[in-house]
Amino acid sequence: MALRFYNTLSQQMEEFFPARDNTVRMYSCGPTVYDFAHIGNFRTFTFVDILRKWLRASGFQLNHVMNVTDVDDKIIRNAVAQHKELNEYTAVYTQAFLEDCATLRLERPESLVPATEHIDGMAAAIEKLAAGNHTYSSDGSVYFRIASFPGYGKLSHNDFSGNIAGARVDVDEYEKADARDFALWKAPKEGEPFWPTSMGPGRPGWHIECSVMAIKYLGETLDIHVGGVDLIFPHHENEIAQSESLTGKPFSRFWMHAEFLMVEGQKMSKSLGNYFTLRDLLGKGYAPETIRYLLASAPYRKQLNFTFDGLKSAATAIDRLRNFKLRLETDRFPEGTNGELASRTAAACQAFRAGMDEDLNTAEALAAVFEFVRDANSAMDSCGFRAGDVPAAVELLTLFDSVFDVLRPTAGAGGLSDAAVEALIAERTAAKKAKNFAGADQIREQLLEQGIILEDTKSGIRWKRK
Ligand code: AMP
Ligand code: ZN
Repeated sequence: MALRFYNTLSQQMEEFFPARDNTVRMYSCGPTVYDFAHIGNFRTFTFVDILRKWLRASGFQLNHVMNVTDVDDKIIRNAVAQHKELNEYTAVYTQAFLEDCATLRLERPESLVPATEHIDGMAAAIEKLAAGNHTYSSDGSVYFRIASFPGYGKLSHNDFSGNIAGARVDVDEYEKADARDFALWKAPKEGEPFWPTSMGPGRPGWHIECSVMAIKYLGETLDIHVGGVDLIFPHHENEIAQSESLTGKPFSRFWMHAEFLMVEGQKMSKSLGNYFTLRDLLGKGYAPETIRYLLASAPYRKQLNFTFDGLKSAATAIDRLRNFKLRLETDRFPEGTNGELASRTAAACQAFRAGMDEDLNTAEALAAVFEFVRDANSAMDSCGFRAGDVPAAVELLTLFDSVFDVLRPTAGAGGLSDAAVEALIAERTAAKKAKNFAGADQIREQLLEQGIILEDTKSGIRWKRK
């Protein structure tokens, strides 16, 4: 079956394939590093990770660029308030973001690019836009003239023809959505950081960074551009206006947008104060993979309501799959294969792929896995599951985990670190040597309780996590 994505630009499902040489050129808008990201932000970043993994499972290679917005109004405000240099301030939250991504098992994009390292490129782009008559200046700031770009509104499907004349709004905080002209370059202000450039001192507006870095690393036309739905307008609309005015080419073939993580009917956001950071939830004892599962389990184009019950169900779902995996690994099954089960396994694999192929419908993909696990478990209970059925079942779980990545427990998250496991094993070996078999068994039990399975082999003790 073909891979199809909903394209915000065409408002239709379209078959996806990269334009050139089997490599997907993809750009995602990254974090603004003024504070810790919340799990609403991570819903979007988890969607991007699922997209990456499914593109790879579909046989494509990836060239994915993500920006780090390390200069904007909020960052400057906070850095100034704390008497810190801009980069000293942003380094803390960039680092925290990368740690949180690693905790949630989000793959690193091929390039992660900070805006402040591309200021000269932005100045050059703005000068080129000026030469093309797309800008005007006022008090040392430069604005993009939306009337100079007839396609404005094609992504958000807004008709701006009535209200674009002459208005100028100096915002780059995208919550304050304003339809009209936007700042490309901001004049230096007293006490604020600025950069000397070929077009004079100042700092870039938010939108220009993405156009410049995407084109620099990926070329004039991307295969996919992604972000949260709140970025469609004005940010992505502005990216299109800038990029297409610069190159005369379509900026991105596909635009994909993740819906919000909600809390009691409202978008989870810093400004509403209704948010949890990843660290908040880890502090409450939730495992990273539970949070990952919850964020990934709803199709990305549907809003997802965040609740603690939802987190508990996610933990239960993971347990169910881990227990099934353990059964596959440790139970003894009669020889042979169960023909009916074999065809069900094949059907489950196919349904999983079909769900993912249809615009990453993770809910359908998961339903296929759980239906299979239920059938296989009951076949095991009634001795209908055979040794020959194990490889296909393992294959399905492997396919599932290549995307969802939740079966491996996080060391140290409500469990033991590798070092602690090794130490207990050494203790147990010492107990055995001292013929303290009861003590050795007790340690084995203690490890088992923590999800650690020991195997006595000829070459020594091997261990693994459930
Ligand atoms: P920011 O760091 O504010 O630039 O946001 C980073 C990403 O998180 C953007 O792609 C936003 O669209 C996305 N985002 C912000 N709030 C939410 C939310 N409640 N649910 C899903 N995505 C969000
Ligand atoms: Zn962007």
